[in-house]
Amino acid sequence: MRKTVIVGGGITGLATALYLHEHAANAVSYTLLESSTRWGGKMLTTHQDGFLAEGGPDSFLAQKPEMLELCRRLGLEDELIGSNTTKGPSTFVLSKNKLHAMPEGMMLMAPTMIMPFLRTRLISWWGKLRMGLEIFVPKPKEVTDESLGSFVRRRLGKEALDKIAAPLMAGIHSADPERLSLRSTFPIFSEMEKTHGSLLRAMTKKKKKQPAGKSPMFLSFKDGIETLSQAIVKRLDPNALRLNCGVHSVTGGSSQFCVELNDGSRLYADDVIFATPAYVTARLLRDLDPSLAASLNEIPYASTATVSLGYKRSEIGAQLNGFGFVVPSQEGRKINACSWSSQKFSFRAPEDGVLLRAFLGGACAPGLAEHDEQTLLALARYELQEIMGITATPILTKVSRWIKGNPQYEVGHAERVAEIAHILTFHPGLHLAGSAYSGSGMPDCIQSGVRAASAVISRKTSEEIHRNVETAALAGQA
Ligand SMILES: Cc1cc2nc3c(=O)[nH]c(=O)nc-3n(C[C@H](O)[C@H](O)[C@H](O)COP(=O)(O)OP(=O)(O)OC[C@H]3O[C@@H](n4cnc5c(N)ncnc54)[C@H](O)[C@@H]3O)c2cc1C
Repeated sequence: MRKTVIVGGGITGLATALYLHEHAANAVSYTLLESSTRWGGKMLTTHQDGFLAEGGPDSFLAQKPEMLELCRRLGLEDELIGSNTTKGPSTFVLSKNKLHAMPEGMMLMAPTMIMPFLRTRLISWWGKLRMGLEIFVPKPKEVTDESLGSFVRRRLGKEALDKIAAPLMAGIHSADPERLSLRSTFPIFSEMEKTHGSLLRAMTKKKKKQPAGKSPMFLSFKDGIETLSQAIVKRLDPNALRLNCGVHSVTGGSSQFCVELNDGSRLYADDVIFATPAYVTARLLRDLDPSLAASLNEIPYASTATVSLGYKRSEIGAQLNGFGFVVPSQEGRKINACSWSSQKFSFRAPEDGVLLRAFLGGACAPGLAEHDEQTLLALARYELQEIMGITATPILTKVSRWIKGNPQYEVGHAERVAEIAHILTFHPGLHLAGSAYSGSGMPDCIQSGVRAASAVISRKTSEEIHRNVETAALAGQA
């Protein structure tokens, strides 16, 4: 039986362990090591006084099949809930201290519907004209990676970047669009430019092909996102799971790895799967391969904080007719976005309650999320008072800080990951998975875990075949 150690018990490590458990139970034994006292990593659900607050992820894209497939395998289909539907627009954008509806039909930053776009007061007439001229903007002769900021400015103009794309990037991805790699985050847009010569043209064609009817874009779980991590843990072998078990270093390598734990004890493994942030993996591997560690350390991370605030519905004057708002940096605010969580999903607040979630920090506000919880709470409350006029005292407050919690796919990310993959070819038995490499959403993490587990299984299979062939050859010689 080959031994595999998985480092990190977030969704990536859990999905990796589950795959090995279900597909190679008789051939590969696994041990899942987690340094903290709980499973799930950034999946963090709090239930309090009828509120359900998510500290990290709150939902996933319904169109991602990996997640749905996992839910099906775990028997969680009945636990899934879709985001609510709204009569009007779902997202608002702060502009000159007023919330404006994001025009209906925007696909990230490009309009796909004419009338709502023409009617919006968020974008000036000049800005609208400039966006409309997108169809005449030639595509570049040579396709190289560029920042999302440069791409949007080039194709749709500065206003589309400042008022739509940049706040969405800061609010949703905690990212600075001027550094974010288009190729690694939204390859679909460069593909559209390449194939159709224009985003507007490509989207109009895409829209025509789409079936009518509105299904929810986001899914979550009735009892919160931790439903998933808990369900996976229940499926795994309890003897293979170790909490409070931080890894200090991983060394060795030619045929076996030595995994040294923080308490000084050691485990030996044929394969090690790192489901930890890239900079943690770098630290654990620095003695084994300093160049691999250096490449991993080149992936930057941003720190963010989420502040959940629960109110009595009767005490907040604001109309919550949507899912929340994003804040352009020109507004000079301390929050990037605010999700109206109890509007977006059911079961997030008691009947007479409202749950809001403010986002702070990110790549455009380095250092902000490092403030203490009381300061972050005070900042979030101040901003919600200024923007939404909420003066009531919240009956629930919950602050989650994610220091270096968000990998940033900056320009050149794909090359960086290719370099890491190349170095890994010299270390059969070492595998990397998680949000740092090829997608940071939970479904991407699951997919990367499945890929790492499959690599362990196929390594075992190919070695077995190799051994069988050698044995057969030796038997033949005899
Ligand atoms: C605020 C926020 C909101 C988000 N919202 C969404 C969303 O709505 N939808 C979505 O799809 N994605 C969202 N994401 C992204 C998604 O949540 C993450 O990419 C994903 O959860 C990362 O999972 P992971 O297992 O790779 O890493 P993590 O969850 O970070 O897990 C890594 C684990 O490794 C452990 N560890 C670290 N060092 C060691 C060590 N030395 N030894 C052993 N264990 C160690 C850690 O304790 C941790 O448990 C969000 C992220 C954040 C921060």
